[in-house]
This record gives sequence, structure tokens and C-alpha cells, in this order.
Amino acid sequence: MIKNIICVSCPMGCPISVEIDDGTGEVVNVTGNTCPRGKAYAITECTAPVRMLTSTVKVKGGRTAMVPVKTSAPIPKGMMFDIMKEINSVEVSSPVKLGQVIIENVLNTGADIIATNDD
Ligand code: SF4
Repeated sequence: MIKNIICVSCPMGCPISVEIDDGTGEVVNVTGNTCPRGKAYAITECTAPVRMLTSTVKVKGGRTAMVPVKTSAPIPKGMMFDIMKEINSVEVSSPVKLGQVIIENVLNTGADIIATNDD
């Protein structure tokens, strides 16, 4: 099977073709990438896709009702829904500081949920 993707690792947005073994699901060839980062991105995207997640968390006693948050590292795409449920179940008390860890090692992904603003 051939999968065509766009590399989002830099603004060039190279179109990349990934050949995947139908039996094993392993990547057997990558073409179209201009640099090694593109090859690494393509392999990850086709075997274990990850995404950064941004959202908001409820704040008690803050200037605003919600504070923006993000993951400290990319997380498995398949866990986005479960992690959103975790984020939605949390309420923090003001003050919240930029960079504060809101949820440590969310669902054992190795990524923290961190505040991206003060409140
Ligand atoms: S393959 Fe390399 S040059 Fe092309 S978009 Fe990806 S990172 Fe940028």
C-alpha cells in the first residue's frame, strides 16, 4: 500500500509517499522527503502517529473561568479522546502560572499537561 502524506515538520510541506508492507504494516520505502526529518516524520505518522494537544482547564477563583493548556510533548493520536476526558475532569485553583504542570504524566504517556498562560 502507498500512503501519500504532507510533512509538517517545517514550512516547506514536502509531499511524501510511504510504501507500507500490507502483511507486516511496516514501512518499506519513503520517497519525496527533502531531508531526514521528513523520513522520520513519515515513518512515525504511518506507524504510531502522535499529536500535540491544546485545550483549556477550569480555574477556580481566577481572572477567567478557563486557562489554556497543552501537552509538554506529542502524545499518541489514539489517546486524544481519553486525554481530553482527563483534562475536562480537572479544576485548578488560582493562581495558575505559565508553565505550571496541571496533570503530570497524563495517562502514563510521559507527557505533562501544562498551562500556557497565567490566571
Ligand atoms: S521533508 Fe524536510 S524539508 Fe520537507 S517538509 Fe519535512 S522537514 Fe521540511
